[in-house]
Amino acid sequence: MSSPSQSGTTFIGIDLSGSTIRAAVIEPDGRIVESRETPKDETGVVEQVAHITNSLRSGDRRIAAVGIAIPGLVNRQIDKVVVSRDLPDIVRTDLHSELMRATGLRVELENDANAAAYGEYQLGAGRGSRNMFYMTIGEGIGGAVIFDGKLWTGVSGFAGEVGHITIDTEGLESTCGKTGCLETVASAPNIVRRARERLYRDNTSSLSRLALNRDFTADDLAREARNDDDFSLMMLERTGKFIGTGVATVINLLNLERVVLGGGVMDAGDLILKPIIAEVKRRAFQPCFEATQIVAASLGADAIPLGAALLARDAALT
Ligand SMILES: [Zn+2]
Repeated sequence: MSSPSQSGTTFIGIDLSGSTIRAAVIEPDGRIVESRETPKDETGVVEQVAHITNSLRSGDRRIAAVGIAIPGLVNRQIDKVVVSRDLPDIVRTDLHSELMRATGLRVELENDANAAAYGEYQLGAGRGSRNMFYMTIGEGIGGAVIFDGKLWTGVSGFAGEVGHITIDTEGLESTCGKTGCLETVASAPNIVRRARERLYRDNTSSLSRLALNRDFTADDLAREARNDDDFSLMMLERTGKFIGTGVATVINLLNLERVVLGGGVMDAGDLILKPIIAEVKRRAFQPCFEATQIVAASLGADAIPLGAALLARDAALT
């Protein structure tokens, strides 16, 4: 039975990771009771978040805390955004204090992949596990560790940065400033880059319908793969090998029960999931592989606001 304080309280989760700000109000059990979307103004994020929060609050006086998912590195011990390539302004501002001042509510900041991981762990494809790794493969590659039922963020909040493990010591420069990271070959923009380079180089690939569309995206490539385009299928398969190599490293290190894979690139479904699992099987220590279920995420875009709200709930109720 839930306590009176639990049943009488709701929580907001806000996702700042995309071009649209997505907000959700949840009951303590994670049920979404209200949601909002608005285009993000990169220079006025604090005001926007305060405005959304206060407007949600005017319709629901039970709101007790707000969780904000940030595209960047967040140190929750000092409530600071340390690095954010997408939102440099929020590194300069004291987002946490300003939002508390503007809303009068308890505010929890968290990295976006960590928030999504917590959402999937509590209510999505991670349910029922105790030790889980979440990986999101989209515009970038992020990850998060659930260790013994808790989000494990490392000594300063940055654990799980699987997109920046080295996959090719001779590789391209990464967004982190180093070279050859997993992200430089397997993120959506890099899948497109590799496909372009190959279409340019390889005459037989010019049979691909993608060559006719100069500005194709990773989604277009996935669609062509579903239409049995051999080139697109091969590109997804090769991308799966890179991601599988990263996942094999993770499970060798952590001996996890479950790996949940989310993000836009995973919308290709089995066409990418199967090559990933095959590569993990080929590369991981066999007992670690056998102990681990590798599955697709199930909450889609709701994972981030939901996870952020659940983290705010946990912080407020403990
Ligand atoms: Zn990197």
